[in-house]
Amino acid sequence: MILPIVTYGHPVLRQKGERITQITPEITQLIADMMETMRDANGIGLAAQQVGRALQLTVIDVTGIEDRPSTLELDGKPADPLTLMPLVLINPEVKPLNEPVTGPEGCLSFPEVYFDVQRPERVSVSAMNEKGERLAFSCGGLLARAVQHETDHLNGVLFIDYLSKSGKSKLKKELDALVYQTRRELGLR
Ligand code: ZN
Repeated sequence: MILPIVTYGHPVLRQKGERITQITPEITQLIADMMETMRDANGIGLAAQQVGRALQLTVIDVTGIEDRPSTLELDGKPADPLTLMPLVLINPEVKPLNEPVTGPEGCLSFPEVYFDVQRPERVSVSAMNEKGERLAFSCGGLLARAVQHETDHLNGVLFIDYLSKSGKSKLKKELDALVYQTRRELGLR
């Protein structure tokens, strides 16, 4: 089932996700729905907060993105990132492995908003997958960026939090309009 994606201004986007301790049928269904929702929206990542659930759960799929490569290391050896796709991360822990690089980002909760964000180019990831199994890998490129962007969501952090003062003022009108629209839809204003 395709779920509605919440937009900036919805309070759930600022909520830290609760840890998931058990893969219940409800969680399995939520994962399937989030995958379907992400694909329908042509996204490469979607966090539970973006469908209104404050949980430590995100789905990622960089399949088909050829102009922005991804790298993967499994058990210390290079591997094809596609073998891990689609990727479900539950309670993920992400550690930077090198220096930040600049790259463009968008977010399904911020329609039409794109700008450059600095993030480490490579990270190590430890998480649980959709079967409740332990998952550990290192990744780089677009996949590393997606993992960091989505993991931020799970902690209530948004990509606009990385904007400089001048970047924020450039986007102020767009962001204010988005908050206004979101809150109106929610009946908060
Ligand atoms: Zn996002």
